[in-house]
Formats: sequence, C-alpha cells, structure tokens
Amino acid sequence: MRPEPLPPGSIIGIFGGGQLGRFLAMAASKLGFRTAIYAPEEDSPAFQVASQRWQSSYSDEDALAQFAKACDVITFEFENVPATALEIVTGLTSVRPAVRAAEIAQDRISEKRFLSGLGLATAPYAAIEGEDGLPAAASLLAQAGTGILKIAREGYDGKGQARVSSEAELRSALLRFAAPCVLEGLARFSTEISVIAVRSAGGDVFFYDCPENNHGEGILRRSAVPASCSRNQQAAAQEMTARIAAALDYCGVLAVEFFVMPEESPAPLLVNEIAPRVHNSGHWTMEACAISQFENHIRAIAGWPIGSVRRHSDAIMTNLIGEEALGWRVILEKDPGASLYLYGKNDIRAGRKLGHVTQISPRKKNEDNPHPV
Ligand code: AMP
Repeated sequence: MRPEPLPPGSIIGIFGGGQLGRFLAMAASKLGFRTAIYAPEEDSPAFQVASQRWQSSYSDEDALAQFAKACDVITFEFENVPATALEIVTGLTSVRPAVRAAEIAQDRISEKRFLSGLGLATAPYAAIEGEDGLPAAASLLAQAGTGILKIAREGYDGKGQARVSSEAELRSALLRFAAPCVLEGLARFSTEISVIAVRSAGGDVFFYDCPENNHGEGILRRSAVPASCSRNQQAAAQEMTARIAAALDYCGVLAVEFFVMPEESPAPLLVNEIAPRVHNSGHWTMEACAISQFENHIRAIAGWPIGSVRRHSDAIMTNLIGEEALGWRVILEKDPGASLYLYGKNDIRAGRKLGHVTQISPRKKNEDNPHPV
C-alpha cells in the first residue's frame, strides 16, 4: 500500500551520526524536511547539519521512546543499530526500511542463510557458532586453499577479518575474535561491483548504474562508473538485488555488493554483502545523476515520487582515508572540477574515512565496452 506522502516540514529521524547520516540530513533539508539525528557519540559528523541532536545510547529506552514520538518517520544510516532499539521505535512511529532488513544484514550468518534461502550464490561459507562448527570450516578451507574469516557481527571496513590458509591459522584467528564467525572461501573474482537500488514505498524499484569498486585492506578506496563488466552482468546483479528487496518488502535505498567471477566459473555473480542503507559506493550519484542516492532514500521513506536515477556523466569517486584528507588543498588546486567533501571529523586516524572526492567527465558512448582493449 502506498503511504500518504509526508508533508514538507515533517521530521525525519536518522539513527547514526556518520557521514551517511550527514548526507541524508543535507538531502532532507533540500526538500524542506527537518532531521533529528540519534547517535551516542558527541562529535557525530551528522549533528553538525541536523535540526535536532539526540545524543543518547541505543540502550536508553526512554530516550528512544521520546525520539520516536518526535519523528514522523525513522530510518538508519548503518545496519548495526541494535535490533532492540529499532523494535522500540517501530511500535511508536514508521520505520523505513523495516527492522528485518537490519536484523539480517547485521549478522553475517543470518545474511548468508537468507541469501542461500533465496537461491542466490555467495562465496562458499561455513558458519562457526561454536566448537562444533570447526570440522566443516576446516574442510571448506582444505578445499578452497585460502579463506577469509569474518566476525559475524559488528565488523566493517575490513575490521574483524583475517585471511587464513591453514587450520592452525583458522584456530588462532578464532581464538583472537572469540565470537561467532563465518569462514568464506576466497573468491577469485575479476571485478567487484555494487548495485544501488531504490525501492519506493509502493514497491517500484529503480537502479543506478553499477559502480566498479576497488578495495585496499578491506576498505573501499575507489568507485568508478561505468564499470568495466558488461551491461548483461550488471542487469543480472540488479535482478538479484530486486529479489532481495522484494523478499524484505524493502523501502529506501538498498546496496548489494557483488563479486563478478571469471567466465569459466559455475556462478557468474556472487553476492558479497547486503547494506540496507545508502552506500559509500553510491557517493558519485551526487554529481553524476540528477537525483542522488541520498535524496532518493529520503523521497522513498517519505512516500514521495522517486527521482531519476539516470547517470549523465562518467564518474570516479575516491575516498580520503586517514592522512589523505590533509591533501585537500592540493586536490582542489590540481582539478578545479573536483567535487570535495570533508566529513567534519577532527580525529585523523589511519583507516578512517574522512572525506571523498568525485571527478566527473562527459559520458562515453560505448557503454558495453567502456575500456576497450
Ligand atoms: P566485506 O567487509 O565482507 O565487504 O569485505 C571487504 C572486501 O574484502 C571485499 O570488498 C573484497 O574485496 C574482500 N573480500 C571479502 N570477502 C572476500 C571473499 N570471500 N573472497 C575474496 N575477497 C573477499
């Protein structure tokens, strides 16, 4: 059922105060909405641009109830908001996307089981919830040769991950993590892409062009459009994403990361990860599309018409990680067309995303083979 559109001036609540919340608040403000950011950290970047700051813990039930009553709709900018907090507010106001999407995505084991249940291919995996999970994991590792052990909950940007090549390494990484984990066989992919989809409150789905993503040490370094894989591969990834969105009765922007496999592989595409939110690999939509992923997320959760996802330019988005952000002046001097974002974070730590820069150029005609050999 299509909900009544929220009138301009309504208050949009956002759980999480990072850069994604900051961009969502800026997009909401463009449309005449006010935003209330709920985050535990005092120096949350999104607080700087929001109309209301709610600095409280996710376990503070009174604050959560007050927050829900103050908001016309609530969304989240990261999937690790405790499900209990999302459930408390769900009883009091509209929450979009629904809690189930976060619950599934915040646990790699339930995420893998959900994907397998839909018949979508992933890297081979073994869940290790206790000692009894070890034999299956060890035999998967023996077959794959190399695996990546990932902590089931709370890992992000390569944190809580270890590459392992023997049972001894697997055991020692498990001891270090001391928590439920999933072991994945190493996928020998040719490229990584993501799908950035928007699903309206009425169930219509739209797709941005797929960015091709490059990671270093588990952190996204660069996203580029068009991707070097074929239109057919992108369409197949989009179709898989539509199935995920439908199964979750999703509302808002949904990102799904894929491994594109070499031609001889049994499955052409493996789902790596679901992000039930706006995504770092979609930042370029702010410059290269009429309507960005952030604005379309706000439109979707407010019940407004979804805007065009068409890409008018080619784009390269580069993250500024750690001290790279100190080079902002050189970046701007070198390229006056570069679109720079700094997230207002004071603490410059290695491995921390502090900003990004997007460079656009006229869209190339030969889309099926954007990088001819
Ligand atoms: P994740 O946090 O799971 O998205 O992992 C971050 C990055 O690590 C991915 O984007 C890949 O570049 C790499 N990675 C993760 N899992 C695998 C895997 N099973 N095989 C190969 N590379 C992986």
